[in-house]
Amino acid sequence: MLTSFVLFAAALLSAQADEEKVGTGCNFCKNRGAVACDRHDKDLLPLEEQVHFCSVAANCKDCQGALLVDCKRCNGGPDSIKLEKRLLTFQRYLDSPVGPEELFKRHMPRVVTDHYDLIIDVEKLKDGSRKLNGHEVAHLMAVELEKAAALLNEHFGAKPFHSSRRTRIWYWNTVKDHKRVNFELLKQNSEMGFSLYGVAPASSDWAGANGLEFRAMNVVSNAVHKGTHLRLSNLFRVEWIGNKKAGWFDVGAAHWYEDKLFQRVSTYCIDEANNDLDYEGGKWRVAMRKYLNKHKNGILPELIGKVSGTLRDYEHALAWSLYDWVANEHPKALKLLLMGYKDRIESRDLFRKHLGMTVIQAEAAWREWVAATYPVKDPKPRKKL
Ligand SMILES: [Zn+2]
Ligand SMILES: [Zn+2]
Ligand SMILES: [Zn+2]
Ligand SMILES: [Zn+2]
Repeated sequence: MLTSFVLFAAALLSAQADEEKVGTGCNFCKNRGAVACDRHDKDLLPLEEQVHFCSVAANCKDCQGALLVDCKRCNGGPDSIKLEKRLLTFQRYLDSPVGPEELFKRHMPRVVTDHYDLIIDVEKLKDGSRKLNGHEVAHLMAVELEKAAALLNEHFGAKPFHSSRRTRIWYWNTVKDHKRVNFELLKQNSEMGFSLYGVAPASSDWAGANGLEFRAMNVVSNAVHKGTHLRLSNLFRVEWIGNKKAGWFDVGAAHWYEDKLFQRVSTYCIDEANNDLDYEGGKWRVAMRKYLNKHKNGILPELIGKVSGTLRDYEHALAWSLYDWVANEHPKALKLLLMGYKDRIESRDLFRKHLGMTVIQAEAAWREWVAATYPVKDPKPRKKL
């Protein structure tokens, strides 16, 4: 089946757009051989061009997602190859639907990027004064998730192929659909948002859940946070560290990339049961400076021994701040710590080896760094996507 498809694809390429025999276009198509398909929203077009696949673009009657149509006035040119290649890629995705598409047997907005496979099956989401549909939010989410992925890759020296597969992230219009996906695909009998860690990472939630409330910012911010947990659970090697004594790293990282993009944290997991938690409005720099000033006793010995699910609200902020310190002052240690935790090595050994410090020394250095660098006023959170 796969072999015949590859042969078919090769035949199609050579028949219609042989790279050697391709034409040189004409004046009308500016020597490209193809022209832009005009059925797509101008604002969304640059975002369409960035993704590997979009099910809404695939539905276009004129271009089937290629975003280009053959020039009617000539025999083609360099863009004819681009057009054919994109059609072949799209066909591959159409031929391999993901779980929810098979389960519901209906069309839903699905966007595939380097690191993510998204479904935003939501009718309307608010973003400031504008209303966005699921397709628009899927593309805006794709942009933010890929920004976070690029930062994370830089931190960990990772490439897309260092993950076992793309992380699937799904949001639903009704709690009923989310519950069905949870039950049938993720094997969870619950209405709560759920993330499946490991070899085939996936996350599902209802876009109207507590803390999300059909607001595009909340949903996208939530996806960046969960996407970080999910990616760490299969980066380099499949192993979730959140259930080991490395909760601070797992939780701290998820908050860190969320805060980096939105200047505010609004997601508190683990088990995503605590969507309505809030600590200091999710703005943590000033809060942490004050907290550390007030609490002079050692914090790390207890914090670094906890699993993700047992962190209290203020410990989420402490974990974020500790990750912030490592990411800024010892970025090379991030991958070594992650892999050490995957091997169940204790923090005190990892700190000594990769930070060159005992836990007590690390605490002193972290506190000093916070006092020296955190501002007296928090940066303003982003209001819109
Ligand atoms: Zn032409
Ligand atoms: Zn699209
Ligand atoms: Zn089109
Ligand atoms: Zn989390």
